[in-house]
Amino acid sequence: MIGLLLGLAMPVDAADPLAKQLFGSKSAPSRQNPAAFGGYSKGCLAGGVKLPETGATWQAMRLSRNRNWGHPEAIDFIKDLSRAAARQPGWNGIYVGDISQPRGGPMLSGHRSHQIGLDVDVWMLPAQRLNLTRAARENLSSISMRRAKGAFVNQNWTRAHHEIIKAAASDRRVARIFVFPGAKVQMCKDERGNRAWLRKVRPWWGHHYHFHVRLACPRGMRHCADQNPPPRGDGCAEAQQWVNNILNPPPPDPNAPKPRKRREYVLADLPRQCAGVLQSP
Ligand SMILES: [Zn+2]
Repeated sequence: MIGLLLGLAMPVDAADPLAKQLFGSKSAPSRQNPAAFGGYSKGCLAGGVKLPETGATWQAMRLSRNRNWGHPEAIDFIKDLSRAAARQPGWNGIYVGDISQPRGGPMLSGHRSHQIGLDVDVWMLPAQRLNLTRAARENLSSISMRRAKGAFVNQNWTRAHHEIIKAAASDRRVARIFVFPGAKVQMCKDERGNRAWLRKVRPWWGHHYHFHVRLACPRGMRHCADQNPPPRGDGCAEAQQWVNNILNPPPPDPNAPKPRKRREYVLADLPRQCAGVLQSP
């Protein structure tokens, strides 16, 4: 009781099922009004909307994963971005990777984020054919854009990639975009106009087969937890520093704290509304 009053975490019973098992077993969205509860890496999604498997300018990939569900604002964003991409040479639209599970929440495999229907992975492979079969969408792979462990882009990178990521970052609904450091530095070098959008493009590990778009919490969404905004400025110096560290790794810090293994979440760890999201028909 004291723990409850002080807002401390409830003790976790070893028999409690993991949240990823509960959310990973739901094949349909909750019948509720759309809402994102909690944060990108600790939350759930009510009233998830399905990105149609195929549109005029997009296809959802890896349909067997059933992760083409999101908050309606994310679904609208994807459609808009796909139309912008279709105007780029060599692109007829985009291939969309994971968004969220039908009710969001932790996943049995893969991402830690993507839990509230506001994270979207977009393939770096230019979408040329938009009539891929289900089977082709399981078997086709994206292509990597990186060279030298992500310090630089490779020959697959084009100005169209720059323009599509710029279009995403310039969208007011978008909070952040994660991409490997060499791509950020390349865009910093190539951009001749307004650089404000570069602030949202953040270097991150991986993210050379796809870039990851994170939308801000939709307006008025009371129980959705935004991340702090990125630091001021275009972030180009930080990205260059990241590249420098790839090329010349600094010696390991003997005082660095040991990485702690995160405990897997149970339902009680998530916002309380997530129990209702699970129970809803
Ligand atoms: Zn992602």
